[in-house]
Amino acid sequence: MSAAAETLSFQAEVGKLLDIVAHALYSNKEIFLRELVSNASDACDKLRLEGLTDPRLLEGGAEFRITLKPDKEARTLTISDNGIGMNRADLVANLGTIAKSGTAEFLSRLSGDAKKDAGLIGQFGVGFYSSYMVAGKVSVDSRRAGEVEGWRWISDGQGSFTVEAIDLPARGTAITLYIRDGEDEFLDPHRLRHIVKTYSDHIAVPVVLDHEGKEETLNSASALWTRSKNEISKEQYKEFYHHVGHAFDEPWMTIHYRAEGALEYTGLLFVPTMKPFDLFNPERKSKVKLYVKRVFITDDGHELLPSWLRFLKGVVDSSDLPLNISREMLQHNPVLAKMRSGLVKRVLTELKKRAEEEPEQYLAFWSNFGAVLKEGLYEEPERRDEMLDLMRFPATGEDGVISLARYVETMQEGQEAIYTLTGDSVEALKKSPLIEGFAARGIKVLLLTDPVDEFWVRGVHDYQGKPFKSVGEAGADLSKLATKDKQDKPDEENKEGEGQLEKLLGVMKSVLGEAVKDVRRSDRLTESAVCLVAAEGEMSLHMERMLKAHKQMDMAPARVLEVNPSHPVILRLAGQAQEEGAVERLGARIRLLLDQARIVEGDPLPDPHDFAKRLAAVMLEG
Ligand code: ADP
Ligand code: MG
Repeated sequence: MSAAAETLSFQAEVGKLLDIVAHALYSNKEIFLRELVSNASDACDKLRLEGLTDPRLLEGGAEFRITLKPDKEARTLTISDNGIGMNRADLVANLGTIAKSGTAEFLSRLSGDAKKDAGLIGQFGVGFYSSYMVAGKVSVDSRRAGEVEGWRWISDGQGSFTVEAIDLPARGTAITLYIRDGEDEFLDPHRLRHIVKTYSDHIAVPVVLDHEGKEETLNSASALWTRSKNEISKEQYKEFYHHVGHAFDEPWMTIHYRAEGALEYTGLLFVPTMKPFDLFNPERKSKVKLYVKRVFITDDGHELLPSWLRFLKGVVDSSDLPLNISREMLQHNPVLAKMRSGLVKRVLTELKKRAEEEPEQYLAFWSNFGAVLKEGLYEEPERRDEMLDLMRFPATGEDGVISLARYVETMQEGQEAIYTLTGDSVEALKKSPLIEGFAARGIKVLLLTDPVDEFWVRGVHDYQGKPFKSVGEAGADLSKLATKDKQDKPDEENKEGEGQLEKLLGVMKSVLGEAVKDVRRSDRLTESAVCLVAAEGEMSLHMERMLKAHKQMDMAPARVLEVNPSHPVILRLAGQAQEEGAVERLGARIRLLLDQARIVEGDPLPDPHDFAKRLAAVMLEG
């Protein structure tokens, strides 16, 4: 080490990560090469792009290449590229800290169990740091394009690294791995050839093996998406997906097509099998890469795909956009908008096909990404009908989820609306008193538990002409629809009962006052005595709870208390309500009914103390 070398410490997380990587009992150590070749290829892409606006950066040649040079004597493997390169600050930031979210996620998932954690390395990949699976020491020589100074970064992966200035003849990066004992296979040209073929064939930059002075190009070195479909194997698609999407699972669906005619572009898009951890980041941006005539332009801040398709990975390569397109030009660009519309249409069509042909598999997709897709229902109303066909929902009387088409098929005679109920969990919703009357009439209710459901159900008017209607809203009128096993009582008895009930409702209103908006007889209840519903046009109770949880609301609108006229408790109270002084005598019991309705709904009691007192009083009476 020269005198000028400076020693710096790794960020604590990097230290921890390196410790795990170095001791990993991971069987797929070869993936380190995939990571390093992928970084080298990214570096070439970056320089190609910057070179468009500043050609001086390309001095010394724009023929990009990646070279692998094994040296059995020295027990080193060097991976070099003539890409963008790194200066001192880049080296310290990129190879001394963890900036990228994938690696941070890896760390957060660590269990401490060496075997399980080793599996995670394969799942997330740990980028540059995976070198330490096979190397005891790594040295990185790099010179940033457009700068004159070169830098050498060295570390044995144990807490610290050194950086020093060195002379380097040209821009780019050379990473030398000092291969550990027992990992000699990574010095063997045959093995290297095989690894590159397996993982990096799709890389658009040539990967050249330099073995004893002889050079051999190992990969096809043409951008995968430019090849025709039947020349690409499933494995190659998968490796490309891993590379482009920073993913580690199988693609659930691969969409590869070329649009020709008024608009020319190629799309190669993947739907992941596993739900990415950052799906609900506030950013909600598509990370699909935009290329223009095979030059990488950006994977950030473009409007190529809507945020409700942000789970897609892949590339779109346009022949129509200019190469020197700037960020500003990407906003509200008409060509981009047309491509977007073509892409969205294609994706929705493919999803629909899959849903029809392989319904079981589609459910796996739905459980991962359904909640994201639903955002499109209110963000892109023009596509509503296409999207509604893709939706699946849990429903009463169903074990799994159903489509809206199936819901409509199974509607009861006289039923005009598609009924919905929003809440936190399907289990809780299935027990809600609000759906009792629907269940009794064999009417299905869609149970909506994603936060986004609250938003689209208000905006989406209908499916196939059948309006969506929340069962929570008062007035979801069941009286028109016959109960399955309705036992009509003789009319005279009914009349007398009605009179008593009217009186009770009046008493209840005077007792409850401002606490409720109204007290009404209900057709929806069969088992519960009472339930709370939103007044017509008011927000649902679930929405109210969500807003309160986010401190978006402090004063809730008053609710309607609905009363089951045939419940024994109500019948008894109705009898007692006819006597003088009913308001005083029944006060505690009526308030208890409201408390009970709140508890069932999952609402906090305004005064639990008072509730306990009332309960005790009523128990004593009994
Ligand atoms: P990722 O590639 O996902 O960002 P890595 O750990 O693989 O994470 O690499 C970290 C960073 O180091 C890269 O983002 C890049 O900025 C830099 N880097 C790594 N290898 C090279 C290289 N060969 N040339 C230029 N920069 C590189
Ligand atoms: Mg990388």
